[in-house]
Amino acid sequence: MKCSFCGYDETKVIDSRLTEEGDAVRRRRECPSCNKRFTTYERSYEIPITIIKKNKETQPFDRQKLLNGLIRACVKREIPVQILEKIVENIENELRNQYKYEVTSKQLGEMALKRLKELDKVAYVRFASVYKKFDDIKKFTEELAELEK
Ligand SMILES: [Zn+2]
Repeated sequence: MKCSFCGYDETKVIDSRLTEEGDAVRRRRECPSCNKRFTTYERSYEIPITIIKKNKETQPFDRQKLLNGLIRACVKREIPVQILEKIVENIENELRNQYKYEVTSKQLGEMALKRLKELDKVAYVRFASVYKKFDDIKKFTEELAELEK
């Protein structure tokens, strides 16, 4: 961080704390060249993830919406909602770690399916029936047969 008085390249951080609102870091800096002190505020912005739907429409990634979809698929399967929250978190982390800020609804669905498959077969098929929108009953029964192997 450049000194705002003399333009010296390196300033020393002498104090660093979260603002009261908790949304920024307040840093007190000192310039080793002119010895003046100044304060900077640093904020981190979360880059939104965009979902591209089949019809090319886009919508922001919505954790709650994905979670609701998982909850619906897991009705009466006695799966703690915390596990489903973890799945949502895990999916979001995977996207962010790969710097994928645009993902198709199909890719997102596949990511959820991969995790549900390991968790609960019934929930997997239910979720698949919504996400994959099985065009015909044949495909759906094929998928079921695949699972029973
Ligand atoms: Zn300076």
